[in-house]
Amino acid sequence: MTKYIFVTGGVTSSLGKGIIAASLAKLLQARGFKVTIQKFDPYLNVDPGTLNPYEHGECYVTDDGAETDLDLGHYERFLNTPTSQANNVTTGRIYQTVINKERSGDYLGKTVQVIPHITDEIKRRVQLLGHNNEYDIVITELGGTVGDIESLPYLESLRQLRWELGKDNCLVIHLTLIPYLNAAKELKTKPTQHSVKELLNTGIQPDVLVCRTEHPITMDIRRKLALFCNVDVGSVIEAIDADSIYGVPIKMLKENLDTTVISKLRLQDKKEPDLKAWKTFLNKLRNPSKEINIGLVGKYNELQDAYKSIHEAFVHGGAVNECKVQVTPIHSEKVEELDNDRLAALLSKFDGILVAPGFGERGIEGKIRSIKVVRENNIPFFGICLGMQCAAVEFARNVAGIEGASSTEVEPDTANPIIDLMPDQKGVTKKGGTMRLGAYACDLRRKSRASGAYGKLKISERHRHRYEFNNAYKESFEKLGLVASGVNPDTGLVEIIELKGHPYFVATQFHPELKSTVENPHPLFVAFVEACLEHKQQRQKLEMEKVS
Ligand code: GLN
Repeated sequence: MTKYIFVTGGVTSSLGKGIIAASLAKLLQARGFKVTIQKFDPYLNVDPGTLNPYEHGECYVTDDGAETDLDLGHYERFLNTPTSQANNVTTGRIYQTVINKERSGDYLGKTVQVIPHITDEIKRRVQLLGHNNEYDIVITELGGTVGDIESLPYLESLRQLRWELGKDNCLVIHLTLIPYLNAAKELKTKPTQHSVKELLNTGIQPDVLVCRTEHPITMDIRRKLALFCNVDVGSVIEAIDADSIYGVPIKMLKENLDTTVISKLRLQDKKEPDLKAWKTFLNKLRNPSKEINIGLVGKYNELQDAYKSIHEAFVHGGAVNECKVQVTPIHSEKVEELDNDRLAALLSKFDGILVAPGFGERGIEGKIRSIKVVRENNIPFFGICLGMQCAAVEFARNVAGIEGASSTEVEPDTANPIIDLMPDQKGVTKKGGTMRLGAYACDLRRKSRASGAYGKLKISERHRHRYEFNNAYKESFEKLGLVASGVNPDTGLVEIIELKGHPYFVATQFHPELKSTVENPHPLFVAFVEACLEHKQQRQKLEMEKVS
């Protein structure tokens, strides 16, 4: 029978429930259990696809085309297994399902209410992934903080499930903060006590407390928390700040979070956790012998989470190369204020430039101008989604000499739509879930940078965009050196472009960053880091020659 673990949060938001859930899942997986993680978000959007990155950080996309919370990215990066539509549910989706059923007459004659209709739908969704016994354990992360009004139906569902499934099959982990008061030089347990009381008000007694802290928590504090929160001392787990999110599973192992959970759920402990690959990665991550600095040209730079998967893919791609990858944000709108010389001087300081995905007009000319500089100055370049579209437009304007070349996303009436909507997108007016989403096949060209990096000719990558490269320009661009090295076998859509004769100039219509994991760093990120290292070496050599 599938066992269910819930992770709730208390005291403040941003304590890292996703990382704790993913770390526990990693440890259980390393012991041989089949585990998945899902996230329930208490907001009313049906999915985060329509949210601005400033509101919500990056929108993560699964193989089956779900637009989801960025925590699903952590789940995949830690577990190295794909998630799906079922792994992220919002209040909006719950209500939508219930209201649609009401309209179809499923509840005919009945008053439809939060309890039991909404809570029943939450319970059904919680157990969806467990139904065909594919998993030994399903971990459910509840978004928000205990005490939020929006969380109440979720907590009530959790309380009911716990009752129905029984203590041995359902467990609650509460993640809280133990603040340190510098003036008193003391860690304080009171906020955690209050948070547990809040949870008790909803009828839920947490089984395990995971305590985020900046300083080690002593045995005295553990005993105090145990006594006032009704948990065993052994179930008070210290989650001290880690140097990297990837160090957290090891910290949780030392704190016995996995064995505590295994014994409480009366699971058959299978074996010692096999964390060899994980530890090898950590070792490389912590002991880099080289360093590069990459400029990330984007417009959502104020919020790190907006490009979460790109940052993490650089961590993975850097670690295999034993290279620390410094990523420096470059604001595409600020770029627009610089003249060409200044811009070239700025970008030349970097070992490589990545032009980020994005939507809309703002900052787009800055991206296009940055690409001109990296193309002309042989600086390694990696373009993703909008970054690839900008590369095609730049090439059209400055190499193919097509004046006014543009994308119809920013210039709907352009005479030269290098990037355009395909017929199937033209009539689309609704914004939610209507882009080209999820995994699509791609055939790679032999002897291209792309096939060299992947080491194969058939790949599948995830998409999230409406606009495409316009194939009317393909042939003439190829003659001029911009080749389509990745093409969708079913539609002929261009998925990767690369520039011949440039040290490294590769851009993808898909989002490679979404599939990079600790154990499978993405080949295009690995190859880009290598190219940047090479570029750095060349540059240093030239500088040395100049000096001597
Ligand atoms: N705005 C572009 C499109 O919709 C690119 C999207 C993206 O970068 N994810 O096609």
